[in-house]
Amino acid sequence: MVSISQNLQAVRQRIDAAAASALRAPQSVSLLAVSKTFGADAVIAAAQAGQRAFGENYLQEALDKMAAVRAAHPGLLLEWHFIGPIQSNKTRPIAENFDWVHSVDREKIAQRLNDQRPADLPPLNVCLQVNISGEDSKSGAAPGDVPELARRISVMPRLRLRGLMTIPEPADDPQEQRVPLRRLRELQTLLQDQGLNLDTLSMGMSSDLEAAVAEGATIVRIGTAIFGHRHYAT
Ligand SMILES: *Cc1c(COP(=O)(O)O)cnc(C)c1O
Repeated sequence: MVSISQNLQAVRQRIDAAAASALRAPQSVSLLAVSKTFGADAVIAAAQAGQRAFGENYLQEALDKMAAVRAAHPGLLLEWHFIGPIQSNKTRPIAENFDWVHSVDREKIAQRLNDQRPADLPPLNVCLQVNISGEDSKSGAAPGDVPELARRISVMPRLRLRGLMTIPEPADDPQEQRVPLRRLRELQTLLQDQGLNLDTLSMGMSSDLEAAVAEGATIVRIGTAIFGHRHYAT
């Protein structure tokens, strides 16, 4: 059986190879292990193989998992990233328990996270989620709304706006995959030209990792290629 540790190594090799073909430093791309639907044991196995940053989509599942990991390994220092849709009545536990939030897509959510971030923690790292493919069903801010939204979030003192995140419409062809990812990078460049200090492009999943690294991703969010296929409870 292939192990989480071997999968992590294979993913890291894919990142390094993609970075090399794009003439980028391999360390300029960091790996977020998306552990949603997998248990604390899977997180611990990945952590023992050197992985530190974990992404979660469902709040209660994430809080239970964090508690279980802490109980089993009190000294283990992990970084937790919230990457799922955010309901406004769930912002407090997110502000209290996560290091990063990738899925901020409206001012109201940002304001609540800012107001609820505990004073004894560093500012919460956030990315603005952008609906770059313009699909009706997807969450994310419309590209045209992003400059104004980014300006408003960038002055919130308990948040640190790091950059942009997207989940593009799935495509099989690698060249086709690159089109929306390039648009996200161009949007980030526009914001940087307007004076915003952004260092993060959160894009790329198991099936478009190479395209994302080629287009400048600094965080790739990988689930299936590390932990295997997800089985959702019915
Ligand atoms: C589930 C998920 C991922 C990981 O997707 P894989 O295809 O399993 O690598 C990445 N980003 C977000 C926002 C997700 O919800």
